[in-house]
Amino acid sequence: MGIEHLLIVRYGEVALKGQNKPYFVKKLIARIHPLLPPGVSVVSDGGLILVAGYPAEQEEALARAITKVFGVATVSRAWRIPSREMADIRAAAVRWMEGKAGTFKVFGKRADKTYPVTSPEIAADVGEAVLVGGGGRLSVDVNRPDTSLYVHLRRNDVLFYDDSMKGFGGLPLGTNGKGLVLLSGGIDSPVAAWLMAKRGMRIHAVHFHSYPYTSKRAEEKVKELAEILSSYVGGFRVHILNLLPAQEAFAANCPESEMTILVRRMMMRAAERIARREGCAFLITGENLGQVASQTAEALAVTDAASGLPVLRPLIALDKVEIIERAQEIGTYEKSIEPYEDCCTVFLPRHPATRPKIEAILASEEKLGGGQGLENLLAAVMETEEVCAL
Ligand code: ATP
Ligand code: MG
Repeated sequence: MGIEHLLIVRYGEVALKGQNKPYFVKKLIARIHPLLPPGVSVVSDGGLILVAGYPAEQEEALARAITKVFGVATVSRAWRIPSREMADIRAAAVRWMEGKAGTFKVFGKRADKTYPVTSPEIAADVGEAVLVGGGGRLSVDVNRPDTSLYVHLRRNDVLFYDDSMKGFGGLPLGTNGKGLVLLSGGIDSPVAAWLMAKRGMRIHAVHFHSYPYTSKRAEEKVKELAEILSSYVGGFRVHILNLLPAQEAFAANCPESEMTILVRRMMMRAAERIARREGCAFLITGENLGQVASQTAEALAVTDAASGLPVLRPLIALDKVEIIERAQEIGTYEKSIEPYEDCCTVFLPRHPATRPKIEAILASEEKLGGGQGLENLLAAVMETEEVCAL
């Protein structure tokens, strides 16, 4: 009896999408496909996605790569047999447990309700066979087994698998619009981008520096962060702009305490311009309520007012520890904490305004020549644009 090795990919939330389900599953398969070597099949089959036909030594690496695809709930390494004879099922289960010792439990799952043996009966029958086949190496523990063996009886085949690896869930990339993330070199913004991508949003990025006040190395660090992100979200572009022309004008003409908020509003304007040009309908930031002076409720409202696009702030209500945990989980943390300067630290006010009033900020912007003055500054910033494609 032939045993085929395969990977079972389960989708979580995608499964809830009524009429759109085939669309989401197709998108998910399209995301998994490029990760596979040539000739490996990936198909939707009875509510599961099955990957088959890969070289055995690549199984572990493939399974790990697939857990990183948004929309994937779990991945299991599995066997499939084409026979539904109990004798064949028992034999395959005994082979599955070969070389294993300790306690085990068999779970039966009868997806085909016309099959005459019920799920508990399958579990008991196969469990008995494994116990005997184990010749004393194995014993049953139904509460905390070392090994769980799932026997999944379907219409035309039987699947065997043990505990599965967890994916991130979410929705397949490319199913929910496009956003432009304001990507600093810090801890928060890479996590913000990752969280939106996990909901299916395609991501592009913009980064601001203040060269020569900030170093080329700081810029490299951001590209390296973007590289880590791209292992989840695929290739994307990072637009890199020098904010210095605007920062110098603010420093020369406006109250020092307003520096941060004025710079943040300029970032929003430049980001909006790039977003509209690149077909991104949203801006994404790593802002978090109350984290720093520029992220008080009042400051966020004043920042928001500078842009005509909706600003998504997926971290808004998280605690810093939660953000750090996520950054560690996705692998951006170590890079983020490398100590390089950010453009926001240039001209940092000694006493930043924590409760800025929009009227006062507009008055300061008026000192730069009003609409046209701002427009000229924005143009000077836009002129410095470089694009890094990942
Ligand atoms: P992060 O850890 O993401 O740097 P932060 O807590 O340091 O965030 P701020 O420096 O106030 O907070 O920045 C808030 C948000 O503004 C960032 O999450 C990011 O989205 C955006 N931002 C800040 N600096 C830059 C920059 N140099 N380039 C692009 N976006 C930036
Ligand atoms: Mg920062």
